[in-house]
Amino acid sequence: MVDLDTPLKSLLGPRAATLLAEGLELHVVGDLLAHLPRRYHERGELTDLADLVVGDTVTVQARVEKIERRPMRGSRRSMLRVTVTDGTHPLALTFFNQSWRERDLRAGTTALFAGKVDEYRGHRQLTNPEVQLLESEVEGDVTGAQFANALVPIYPAAAKVPSWTLARCVRLALDSLGPLEDPLPEDLRRRHRLCTLAEAYRLVHQPSSRVEVATGRKRLTWDEALVLQVALARRRRDVQALATTARSARPDGLLAAFDAALPFPLTAGQREVGATIAADIGRPVPMHRLLQGEVGSGKTVVALRSMLIVVDAGGQAVLLAPTETLAAQHYRSLREMLGDLARSGELGADEQATRVILVTGSMGARARREALADISEGSAGLVVGTHALLHEEVVFADLGLIIVDEQHRFGVEQRDALRARGRRPPHLLVMTATPIPRTVAMTVFGDLEVSELTELPSGRSPIATFVVPAAIRSWADRMWGRIRDEVAAGRQAYVVCPRIGGDSLDDDPGALSDEPAGQTGRPAATVTDVLPQLMDGELAGLRVEPLHGRLPAAQREATMTRFAQGEIDVLVATTVIEVGVNVPNATVMVVLDADRFGVSQLHQLRGRVGRGTAPGWCLLHTATDQGTPAWHRLGAVAATNDGAELARLDLAQRREGDVLGAAQSGGRRSLKLLALLRDEDLIREARTEATRLVDADPELDRHPALRRLLDAALDDASAAFLEKG
Ligand code: ADP
Ligand code: MG
Repeated sequence: MVDLDTPLKSLLGPRAATLLAEGLELHVVGDLLAHLPRRYHERGELTDLADLVVGDTVTVQARVEKIERRPMRGSRRSMLRVTVTDGTHPLALTFFNQSWRERDLRAGTTALFAGKVDEYRGHRQLTNPEVQLLESEVEGDVTGAQFANALVPIYPAAAKVPSWTLARCVRLALDSLGPLEDPLPEDLRRRHRLCTLAEAYRLVHQPSSRVEVATGRKRLTWDEALVLQVALARRRRDVQALATTARSARPDGLLAAFDAALPFPLTAGQREVGATIAADIGRPVPMHRLLQGEVGSGKTVVALRSMLIVVDAGGQAVLLAPTETLAAQHYRSLREMLGDLARSGELGADEQATRVILVTGSMGARARREALADISEGSAGLVVGTHALLHEEVVFADLGLIIVDEQHRFGVEQRDALRARGRRPPHLLVMTATPIPRTVAMTVFGDLEVSELTELPSGRSPIATFVVPAAIRSWADRMWGRIRDEVAAGRQAYVVCPRIGGDSLDDDPGALSDEPAGQTGRPAATVTDVLPQLMDGELAGLRVEPLHGRLPAAQREATMTRFAQGEIDVLVATTVIEVGVNVPNATVMVVLDADRFGVSQLHQLRGRVGRGTAPGWCLLHTATDQGTPAWHRLGAVAATNDGAELARLDLAQRREGDVLGAAQSGGRRSLKLLALLRDEDLIREARTEATRLVDADPELDRHPALRRLLDAALDDASAAFLEKG
């Protein structure tokens, strides 16, 4: 009898165990059973040989068509040339010194062949492949019985461990497996009609039908989803157990004065989210909230109003932005929105006024010292900075609220680091305009409550987006003409390039891009090339200036300020302007080599225009060919302004690991089966079950097997997964 913790050595002997350990990182029975087939061959169903790729390690099922033995010149060795087929396409197999195979591989025999695809004289072939006969039931051999099943599991195999060897090992494990303690409680299994763990292993490894495979996989997917959600539910619980200072606005305080002076009515969503946040902050438990707001939905006002509550109550609030450009802009717009309310200590300030302080990495030592002093002694109620502020020795007099803007990859670990900054854990609000599908939010941000701001302030004109194929000259001309027209009408424009250019090939260090650079070999448009071209050509006579992360911070900020004040007509920029930048008078954006950007990124980018009352234009210039995936991606962005829809599309096109930011390459992966889009319902149900379980039994004392699974997951790759978020 073995259980999941039994070392493979005692089940299979040292030789096989070493192969599995070295080739596939499988050490105990549990590892082996969790190594799931990648797919299944129907018995007798032949693999399509047309799409074999040179260099891939494959396992194919094929029928022997022809076999010939050839002597090798000048050698006593022999060579077998075997041609196998899927019924349509042939594949050559070459065996050196294995003439005994002639006996087995007769014409008409079907077998599995495994090996690495190579090429010989322009034809794909397998050299010395591993062979597993399927039709002859080898007497007394376990492999014979193995193929009694209708489906042949094909395992992700390693060089020296072909798929059928794995199948044999798994079979040994299943045959000697003792009773398993099931991590999923029985009532949960019953509610969701899930089989036991032992059954699930049997179904996925030795299925007799596709339905059985699905049943087994569903159960194992549940294990993953539940463990993840239990971990998150426990985090939520831990936060709930912390005590912090409850803060409320004073009826005659800053918030009231601010609201009274607000030049526009709040949207219904802003009011509602504002009330939710006020209620959160008013409790002696740290708020832990994610605010997802469509691009341009007005999150900054919501943030500022929340900050004012805390200042009203005598505390401090900090707003963190991902780039210095954005931090500087927040600083400016906070001061502007607050007017006299932000001029404490200055002449003519409101008597209950506070102060806003900007802390950046590029400020001078003296200014910095003064800023930090104001923060620690409490005269600065509102602090704005970049995320770098987290890592620094900034001491707050009484930090009550942290707001993190535009950060959708703000992991649990960073959230913990933040919480440690106050004397008591501060309230936390994370804001993002990168639309995240609900299930991603529930996993990546599963320890946060989620609010949404979907409505845009009224009076906004929609953004019209067009794809402009580089091949059609007249379209490109009209594109630049559009910029000239808008500038003539007193508006402004952005031209976005994928790269900075100049000596370095680096992407902009100040940009937030995490997208692949694109597949074409063609060099991407750069700011340094495009700027002079436009100034001498299409945009001659306009005030055109560059903006990118290699410019000194002071210059960058000065450029942004002058752009905001209308002293610059066109910014030629990298994605430093991707998030948050708010210049309502900018109405056109041209994105060059738009195919180099991802869906969400393009949506973010175009959110920079159409922020005022004049209609916005986004022109996606691309040299990519019609009909390519990139072309369709651009078409999708042009077709809708719905961030949520685009987020789903984006997720569908990426690997989950990219989205989750997890260390998922190689070795054990934390999420093998769970797919965030496909398994939405399952994730939602698992979240409900997890909350219920953790509420009733926080330490999982009554569920020891689940507890063990959780512990293993937490100190495994999943730890990295949860932290990196
Ligand atoms: P985002 O949610 O993308 O961060 P911002 O907070 O930058 O959006 O707001 C975009 C613009 O909308 C700003 O110029 C802001 O002043 C304006 N705005 C915010 N709320 C309203 C409102 N209720 N009515 C009109 N304009 C608003
Ligand atoms: Mg913003």
